[in-house]
Amino acid sequence: MMTDADVEDWVPTSWRSKTAAQTVVYPDEVHLAKVLGKIRALPPLVTPSEIERLRYQLTLVQRNEAFLLHAGDCAESFEACTQENISAKVGLILSFSLILIWGARLPVVRVGRIAGQYAKPRSSATEKVGDRYVMAFRGDNVNGLHPDERTPDPERLLSAYFHSTATLNHIRALLTSGFGSLHHPRDWSLSHVRSPSLKAEYASISEGLADALDFTRTIGLDSGREAQSYERGGGHGVLKEVDLYTSHEGLSLPYEEAMTRRYPIPDSTVSREFGTPAPTPEKYYNTSAHFLWVGDRTRQLDGAHVEYFRGIRNPIGIKVGPSMADDELVALLDIVNPNRDNGRVTLITRYGADKIGSYLARHIKAVQASGHPVIWVCDPMHGNTLVSSSGLKTRHFGTIISELTSCLRIHGECESRLGGVSLEFTGEFNEEGYSVTECLGGSMELSEEELGLRYQSFCDPRLNFEQSLDVAFLISNHFEN
Ligand code: PEP
Ligand code: MN
Repeated sequence: MMTDADVEDWVPTSWRSKTAAQTVVYPDEVHLAKVLGKIRALPPLVTPSEIERLRYQLTLVQRNEAFLLHAGDCAESFEACTQENISAKVGLILSFSLILIWGARLPVVRVGRIAGQYAKPRSSATEKVGDRYVMAFRGDNVNGLHPDERTPDPERLLSAYFHSTATLNHIRALLTSGFGSLHHPRDWSLSHVRSPSLKAEYASISEGLADALDFTRTIGLDSGREAQSYERGGGHGVLKEVDLYTSHEGLSLPYEEAMTRRYPIPDSTVSREFGTPAPTPEKYYNTSAHFLWVGDRTRQLDGAHVEYFRGIRNPIGIKVGPSMADDELVALLDIVNPNRDNGRVTLITRYGADKIGSYLARHIKAVQASGHPVIWVCDPMHGNTLVSSSGLKTRHFGTIISELTSCLRIHGECESRLGGVSLEFTGEFNEEGYSVTECLGGSMELSEEELGLRYQSFCDPRLNFEQSLDVAFLISNHFEN
């Protein structure tokens, strides 16, 4: 009757007996334990029924009946937790998904890198600032960006919890008060798009919506559950509300452990999977986010992160890069999804435009031969980072598109299907209405000289609003044709 990892031999602390990559050493263990005790007592951020709904929606993605959009910041910061920033991010996620829904005639499952994406893995433990070496910045939930604040402080974990709560509260408020209404998609900040052709393309979509009965039927799907998720709160069963799930890299295991709670699988799932009446099995849910992923630097088969991930009921992502061997990938799937549950594992591939040709087909074939059910998602960002001549970390729009189009082509050649994309983007604008300038190119043709104008990321470079819509139209056109 087990539907996910046979977790009889698993508890939220199991990972502690394994070696963890990217470990944070806190100077005061007693202080850390006190903070974790407090977090353990705080309420969950998300619920088992929401997590189960996402698991179900991901089975639709796996069956080619929906597309997954996973997107947001590389890293959130406490300082950027403002009404404007959260609304802009949610607005961009909605605008992006609208373009996909419209063009591809597929429902979009939206998972934000939001409300908890604070921890960052680093390639080196220290960095040189001026003439001294300091610990690398590990994300706002660990230490501060300022060189004098680099000592890990457990209080930051608590602060991460409360910033996640505030963010999620605002997302829920936006979505339940009409911000997500497909009747007013322009409210999601179309006014900021300056490229006339992009603006016209987007405007034609939102105008077309008015009499798009076909569209309504398509995104409502026939399944009651999916229809309900789009129509919930609905008055006349119209498209008033949308789902937006949260995710982050499950890097800080002490925090993730403290947010892991045991609950019965919610009734609706039990009846669907086991028939009613049935005893309600209890599972461990990570209640800090709906979806968690294990990063490319922490996915060792015998490591602490994989041990942690195998026991939680949440749908999970695994980053897959050039260093992943074919048999290692299958071995990893055997560990985290021994019962081969649908919707449980999303493979987020990130090779780089110049490397995808050597790795993706091999990985797809290995997984196909193993029979493991997975969702394939393209992350065209992380393999394509470079340093500009001015020293800023950037990515070229053309390279991002190149990896994405290669990915679509290779899946086609392997009789596989790309189920979604994972992007680092931001809808942020400054007071004058200008968007960030972190990635080169796009329909706005951002040049290397312009890169420094509004470079705001303190982590990886993000696509701005217009560049993101460019990507959305590209994917949408692909599936339309
Ligand atoms: C990320 O998604 O921000 C990240 C660090 O990715 P990866 O683990 O693929 O390097
Ligand atoms: Mn990143």
